[in-house]
Amino acid sequence: MNVARISAGRRLLASLARRKPTRPYMGLRIGRQGGFSHSGTTSFRLFSTNTSGDDDNNDTKAPEPPKETMEFQAETRQLLDIVTHSLYTDKEVFLRELISNASDALEKMRHAQAANSVEVIGKDVPLEIRIDLDEVTSSITITDTGIGMTRDEMVSNLGTIARSGSKKFVEELKNMSSGGNDVEDASRGIIGKFGVGFYSAFMVAKNVEVSSRSALKDHEDEPAKMWSSDGSGTYEISDLDENIRQNRGSSVK
Ligand code: ADP
Repeated sequence: MNVARISAGRRLLASLARRKPTRPYMGLRIGRQGGFSHSGTTSFRLFSTNTSGDDDNNDTKAPEPPKETMEFQAETRQLLDIVTHSLYTDKEVFLRELISNASDALEKMRHAQAANSVEVIGKDVPLEIRIDLDEVTSSITITDTGIGMTRDEMVSNLGTIARSGSKKFVEELKNMSSGGNDVEDASRGIIGKFGVGFYSAFMVAKNVEVSSRSALKDHEDEPAKMWSSDGSGTYEISDLDENIRQNRGSSVK
């Protein structure tokens, strides 16, 4: 995602890296690797069980694969419109929301590994979250080696609002604006009370890309997928280019 306020994000990450969290995400360990390099790329590795510094996903440019274009569910469109156009000031919450999603994905992976009832791939891949900042492209990428998503899961999880928090948000907003309030004023008042989850990425990014490979062995033969949207009415899903490595889990850029 292109982040207009990347330096603020960088400061936030630097402070996260310095600080020992008192209430970490699931016992989250935060460490900084790599520091601020001359190429303008900074990596932060969270929840790492591996200190070797290997990259799981490697972006390289290649010809674009065919895409299917789909429409967001009406409620999702409404939420996205509010999130993108809201004057909500605390935009940095997007990072908390995305790290929280990555953390949930690791937790689901851990359960799947422990349960033995479902077969998963990449058992030796460490459970970790990595945050990469690229000042050259003004982008931030949150990568996890968690449970990942199939194409269908991307459609139902990212194209519709499943979460009760987001639904309540839209409902409350409808109530407030039908009472004669301006939608933007209404959203400013209540957006802080609800986490809008993944969609908060659109508060800071013009375009959001999610690449993902499901960890479930049943889906092992499916190519990793790329979901992308500019937060307007539609999103696109395509096979992830073969030249981009995506072992297991998701990457939100
Ligand atoms: P919530 O996380 O509260 O359910 P979100 O809007 O943040 O709501 O995310 C919607 C859904 O998208 C999640 O429930 C999850 O199924 C899926 N999702 C989001 N991020 C990831 C991720 N990094 N890995 C796997 N699934 C994810």
